[in-house]
Amino acid sequence: MTEDAPRLNAFPIFMRAQGRTVVVIGDGDEALAKARLLAQSSALLRVVTARPTPALLSWIEANDAEHVRAPYAPDQIEGAVMVFAATGIEALDHRISNDARAAGIPVNAVDRPDLCDFFTPAIVNRAPLAIAIGTEGAGPVLAQIVRARIDRLLSPSLGPLATLANTFRDAAERLLPKGSPRRRFWNEFFTGAPARALEAGNAASARQAATELLARSTATRGHVALVGAGPGAEDLLTLRAQRLLMDADAIVFDALVPDAVVAMGRRDAERLPVGKRKGCHSKSQAEINALLIDLGRSGKRVVRLKSGDPLVFGRAGEEMAALRDAGVSYEVVPGVTAAFAAAADFELPLTLRGVSSSMVFTTGHDLKGGTLPDWASLAISGATVAVYMGRSVAADVAARLIDAGLPSDTAVAVVENASLPTRRRFHGTLADLPSLESRADLTGPVMTVIGDAVAGANFEHSTPLAAHRQVAPAEHQGTDA
Ligand code: SAH
Repeated sequence: MTEDAPRLNAFPIFMRAQGRTVVVIGDGDEALAKARLLAQSSALLRVVTARPTPALLSWIEANDAEHVRAPYAPDQIEGAVMVFAATGIEALDHRISNDARAAGIPVNAVDRPDLCDFFTPAIVNRAPLAIAIGTEGAGPVLAQIVRARIDRLLSPSLGPLATLANTFRDAAERLLPKGSPRRRFWNEFFTGAPARALEAGNAASARQAATELLARSTATRGHVALVGAGPGAEDLLTLRAQRLLMDADAIVFDALVPDAVVAMGRRDAERLPVGKRKGCHSKSQAEINALLIDLGRSGKRVVRLKSGDPLVFGRAGEEMAALRDAGVSYEVVPGVTAAFAAAADFELPLTLRGVSSSMVFTTGHDLKGGTLPDWASLAISGATVAVYMGRSVAADVAARLIDAGLPSDTAVAVVENASLPTRRRFHGTLADLPSLESRADLTGPVMTVIGDAVAGANFEHSTPLAAHRQVAPAEHQGTDA
């Protein structure tokens, strides 16, 4: 609501009514309507009516209301918390209103706004949950329409659920630290198993589910989510990753994870960078494992953000093993891996009917030994090969694949900063690939995709790698397209 929004002339509040006296004065339908409304509360209802209509009389009897069978007199409203004047006689309503005001009791006179200190709202009743709708008298019909709409929206089991919540409130406050643990408990309470059980009409199992939930929450064992942040564009994050981020107490992230993704966490979440950023010290894997265990053991909800997918060249295996050994619970949330982002940027089918039916995720760094890794033979049999961290070993990768028998004119697509506005795309053949190594202008992460399926990509937005082929790096620096 902005500061310019219209102001309410009647301010809604909820008035305590349990065990307190509320007086309705009147003989007919108006008095009956107010009595019915008030009977939704646990107030002690006193109806002052000397000549009740038969309907009013039978309602009073059926509902155990106090019946004062006498003309109105001021002592009848003594000690009341609210008074309703519903006599239909203007002078009398006036008198009642004056008496109530003089006694400091808020008064409502039916259809006489001037005599009213308060108005009665239309009510959606899911006791103890109540929704009161008021129009300051402008549109009782509008209030009824809104009431009907809200009524349809809210499950009847919300009332019992709120009642159940009341019985857990003290325990939750005693056992759960204020802040995110308590918030998480209530969130789960109102949307999870307890709510579902009541919705299904099973009060006993709702109580059981709530008790279990509280026990689980008080164990305050932390939890680590290994979350894929995607290749860089923040809108390639999954909804689950976003939800976990908004819930996290601590966010541990690598250098390649974009700031915009880290920023999605709660403002008060701890943010812990652990990867190399220009000039900053990066933690060793052992230090990162120890950090995750510490955070988990101290009861925190941790999101461990990794670029792309956490299970692809992300060293998640080591972190999971460490967490398992330490008894800290964890889960894995997949992300869009760089190879998929690169393929999308090139409109490159990674599998292509009749051309390529398998896919290799590899890093050139395993080529160092004397034996040819299996993926090279897969490449020869037609697999599409995605090379991670391949820039500095591009020459090795090309040489070994050509040695193994892959034609040197096999298509190659290269993208720096895949998925980001700063991306740059290059294309060429295996013979052009070594030029990557000498290119000082490639400062972002680089993905290389090799294989016959690459020939089906869209190269409209990419520049030829050949421009850099066999050119000495010194001559060429800084002239890149
Ligand atoms: N877990 C990550 C990979 C981490 S290894 C994933 O699934 O994508 C880091 C390598 O990933 C980089 O050297 C680069 O080869 C690749 N990479 C990550 N993000 C990239 C991006 N936006 N563009 C191109 N390559 C990327």
